[in-house]
Amino acid sequence: MFEIISESFKNAVNKLKTIDDEKALKNALDTLKKALLKADVHHKVTKDFIALVEADVKINGIGQKQFLDSIKNNLTMILTAPKGSNQGFVFADTNPTIVLMAGLQGSGKSTTTVKLANFLKLRKKKVLIAACDLQRLAAVEQLKQLCEANEIDLFALDNETNPIKVAKEALTKAKAGLYDVLLVDTAGRLAIDEALMEQISNIKKEINPHEIFYVADAMSGQDGVKTAAKFNEVLEISGVILSKFDADTKGGIALGIAHQLGIPLRFIGTGEKVADLEGFIPDRITSRIMGEGDLATLVEKTAAVFDEKEAKKLNKKIKKGEFNFNDFISQLESVKKLGNMKNLIGMIPGLSGMANKIQDIDLENSKEIRHIKAMIDSMTPKERENPDLLNNSRKRRLAQGAGLSQVEVNRFLKQFTNAAKLAKKFSSKGGMQGLASIVQKPR
Ligand code: GDP
Repeated sequence: MFEIISESFKNAVNKLKTIDDEKALKNALDTLKKALLKADVHHKVTKDFIALVEADVKINGIGQKQFLDSIKNNLTMILTAPKGSNQGFVFADTNPTIVLMAGLQGSGKSTTTVKLANFLKLRKKKVLIAACDLQRLAAVEQLKQLCEANEIDLFALDNETNPIKVAKEALTKAKAGLYDVLLVDTAGRLAIDEALMEQISNIKKEINPHEIFYVADAMSGQDGVKTAAKFNEVLEISGVILSKFDADTKGGIALGIAHQLGIPLRFIGTGEKVADLEGFIPDRITSRIMGEGDLATLVEKTAAVFDEKEAKKLNKKIKKGEFNFNDFISQLESVKKLGNMKNLIGMIPGLSGMANKIQDIDLENSKEIRHIKAMIDSMTPKERENPDLLNNSRKRRLAQGAGLSQVEVNRFLKQFTNAAKLAKKFSSKGGMQGLASIVQKPR
């Protein structure tokens, strides 16, 4: 995600050696400046950042360590919006926390709304989405499908044309239903127009949201930032969410938002899946960019997905050699909730450089996983608990059902049994190892 920027910092630091002078510093700063501009960091942000680093180093002495420390400090500073701004998701003092979602059509607003609901749901919050995008044909239907697929509550009024009415009734429902958060999806347009602004302003007046998030498409670059500024003039947005950040190979746009707009970047969308949303916390992002990983986010993510009690239960089962196909499927579902694997690797200290070398593993759509799931789906509940019950004729049936040969079924069953045995042997190291050894390409 930030690979290019990380690399440019490394290159710049390498321009400084042990004995340093003004010339070496100038060279390092020039390298840094060019690289940041190339990565699409806004020119004013780049200029300010370079000036800050230069001033720091001149006070503290020219050297690799001073340069590195200064980059770190000033990067966090640039990424941080003015005092008092919120970071990540912030809950209001009284429930429900009301969030208005704004953005242009196609920016990823509806998807991001569902991602945010999912993010909160994983953190044990009760979330309601209000379907107030009545402009785009099929927008409500799209939201319904996404919410249904991810078990998220949606409030929609069929055949209603007034989004304010929907928003108001959704708020009443959120209060009565003791929801923690109400996310209001609103209509987008292809470009800013008065009617759009008026509609969203009226919704704002009516429901008085605690937060207004502007969803900007990372691919729209500086235009996206300019549009965000225009929305801000009218609506006073409290945060930006940058969607489709996975498709933006340069990554520089994220570095400028807080400094350019004076509004914090709160989340980034890192893929098309519902799990692909990450909080944007300045010091953690700095740490990731500097190649030091982001353990805090990794731990939060895994804690939200893996239930501690369940993990203990599973560990016991593994120790007793009872890890079965039901456990396997539930592990798989949990891992899916973690989102994009590349990003996860990037959060582990020391491994950030590896992230871009890793192929994306698609746990939902990969051929191997689909075959494995089809095979397990065809088993009876008893067989899932105890694969030893599978005789040859049953194995043939499983192969037919999953579109595999019997040899492949046998190989998978053997891998599974071996992995479970191995996991038992090394159970102090946890069960994930078993999973990893099973999810490998059949040879
Ligand atoms: P809306 O019109 O603003 O509500 O946009 P949608 O939510 O319908 O999203 C438009 C398209 O962008 C859809 O195809 C989404 O799957 C896609 N999208 C949204 N967020 C992301 C993201 O973070 N990464 C990627 N790759 N695609 C995204």
